[in-house]
Amino acid sequence: MEIEVKKVDISKIKDIDFDNLQFGNVFSDHVLSIDYKDNKWQKPQILPYGPMEIFPSLSSLHYGQTIFEGMKAFRAKDGKISVFRPDRHHQRLNRSARRLCIPEMSYELFINTLTQLIKVESDWIPDRRGYSLYLRPFTFATDNFLGVKISDTYKYMIISCPVGAYYKEGLNPISLCTSGEYVRAVKGGLGEAKTPANYAASLLPAQEAKEKGFTQVIWLDGIERKYIDEIGTTNIFFLIDNQLITPPLDGAILEGITRDSVITVAKDWGIEVIERRISIDEVFEMNQQNRLKDIFGTGTAAVISPVGKIEHLGKEIIINNGKIGDLSQKMYDEITAIQYGEKEDKFNWNYHIY
Ligand SMILES: *Cc1c(COP(=O)(O)O)cnc(C)c1O
Repeated sequence: MEIEVKKVDISKIKDIDFDNLQFGNVFSDHVLSIDYKDNKWQKPQILPYGPMEIFPSLSSLHYGQTIFEGMKAFRAKDGKISVFRPDRHHQRLNRSARRLCIPEMSYELFINTLTQLIKVESDWIPDRRGYSLYLRPFTFATDNFLGVKISDTYKYMIISCPVGAYYKEGLNPISLCTSGEYVRAVKGGLGEAKTPANYAASLLPAQEAKEKGFTQVIWLDGIERKYIDEIGTTNIFFLIDNQLITPPLDGAILEGITRDSVITVAKDWGIEVIERRISIDEVFEMNQQNRLKDIFGTGTAAVISPVGKIEHLGKEIIINNGKIGDLSQKMYDEITAIQYGEKEDKFNWNYHIY
């Protein structure tokens, strides 16, 4: 596949303080860019990261015809570079594309251009345990037109950020509260697509949660306001007795790839995993009966986010005395060990670049 490559004259990598990386504010030298026009994806380009010129009438700014992905590249101890489960990210990108009327992309185009970008940016994948290169593919509508319609033209890009260990002092549990007023998504809406609209809907409730002293909102279903959906950037799991329970993919929640990895590893360990609706009342009840052993969120950025506290209608529960649960820790250790090539990759999740 032919890719046009324009490299920067001087890399800015020497100016980066890798000891104090914050998530998402340092970008590598290059971007991948592919335009879509005349009903097909055009020649891919790798270009210096920098400002882009757009017209104020760019349709995605007005009507949100936009999707994205988030995945990671890792450097193992032996220097080998791999990407975690890119096939699944490609499938989900296309599923989101279908919901937002954005053109799909072949796996060949996706993986070849991703591979080329990572080769060009390989110095940006830190050689330290816990570090990785976060990759953000996204596609947005580029017609300059104010009528509401499906755009004829698009741009697909990948930008990337080196990221440090998400939790410097180990995995500190997060605190969650329900929102009485707002919903994130309903079945039939955009909840199962990875699209910015879901994040736009969550900003105000998240701000209110922070003002009350909580890390994030735990979302209840949008109809009965009773069953737990997800945490908005991560999916959620509950260990009750010896069963690991997670809400089913019913159309309102995002099909997390880390969620799938956790289900696969847990089953492999002989844990019974059940995908079923679970109400917030049941979680509080199980805690009262001392049967609630662990709660954690799952997502690419943090892998596992243990939950230490949940508030709902003025009542609070504390899980594991606010400390990380055994399963949360064990699951985090297992998945990261696979990602860094320290444990056998028996599910074939690492796509090796070289
Ligand atoms: C990306 C995302 C997740 C987590 O998905 P992963 O593939 O595990 O990173 C969960 N919820 C929402 C809303 C998301 O956008």
